[in-house]
Amino acid sequence: RAKTTRRGSHVVFEATIRQELENRLTLERELALAADRREFELFYQPQVRLIDGSLVGAEALIRWRHPVRGYVSPAEFMPVVNTSALSERIANWVMETACRQARAWELSGSDVRVAINLSPSQLQSGDLAHSVAALLEATGLTPSLLEIEVTEDILLHDERRVLEMFKRIQELGVRILFDDFGTGYASLSYLKKFPLDGLKIDRSFVFGLLSNSDDAAIVGSTIGLSKQLGLTVVAEGIENRATADFLVSMGCEEGQGYFFGRPMPAEAFEKQFLAAELQTVSAA
Ligand code: C2E
Ligand code: MG
Ligand code: MG
Ligand code: MG
Repeated sequence: RAKTTRRGSHVVFEATIRQELENRLTLERELALAADRREFELFYQPQVRLIDGSLVGAEALIRWRHPVRGYVSPAEFMPVVNTSALSERIANWVMETACRQARAWELSGSDVRVAINLSPSQLQSGDLAHSVAALLEATGLTPSLLEIEVTEDILLHDERRVLEMFKRIQELGVRILFDDFGTGYASLSYLKKFPLDGLKIDRSFVFGLLSNSDDAAIVGSTIGLSKQLGLTVVAEGIENRATADFLVSMGCEEGQGYFFGRPMPAEAFEKQFLAAELQTVSAA
């Protein structure tokens, strides 16, 4: 009886795998078409100085405007993109679009920084530091207005190579932040191995800050640790004022979350967050 069950579940398992493969191939084809049809957009989410809510930066977050399904979340398609032949093409598009946008904002008198999320393929193939340098040169963007966010899966690659690349990028004046800090297996050891400029506390620790003393302890220690290491610390996923206030009381400098603003198209971001700043600039 056990055998039948095993064979039976084996068949079901195979069918599931086949279905998943088919779904993946369909999605890959759709994504390639989407790239051709320019269906990708970058949204921008404000990053603020927590103590006074003033704008310091924007994180560029990719969106797929699907003709039928509407906006699709990157959580749904980026894992496929990152493991497909499209990866480099889309990563380059993100980097170029974000730099052009940042330069446009810089030219209009703002000093808002723009952060991009690195894809794993960007460390595997080609020379990332060289592409970043070329892009800064081509757009004229001030390097300190660009930030790169990396996650632990990226740091898992050939350590010496990554280290070398980070150094060269930082020498350009571009900052590198450790994204989703605390969710990986070895976050602390990466702080020691890599010359990072800052870290972003993952939103999963920030959500429960007010109600869960473990989360509060983890966030509090991470902030303390960052300060001792001379790193900038940014809290993600701040959804209400009480959480923002609590983070300030723990010494956190910067934050990002729906409480301050959701990711939005560039024009909306300009209207909501840059208009005031630019008026001040032109009045001065
Ligand atoms: P991430 O880099 O950690 O980005 C932060 C995510 O948290 C964003 O999700 C943002 O919308 C969400 N978020 C921000 N504040 C809040 C909040 O207060 N509450 C809640 N519930 N969520 C909040 P999003 O835009 O869906 O992106 C998900 C992930 O997809 C990103 O996580 C990043 O890892 C990846 N991703 C997004 N855009 C790109 C891109 O252009 N390139 C690459 N390689 N990855 C990207
Ligand atoms: Mg990020
Ligand atoms: Mg994050
Ligand atoms: Mg994340």
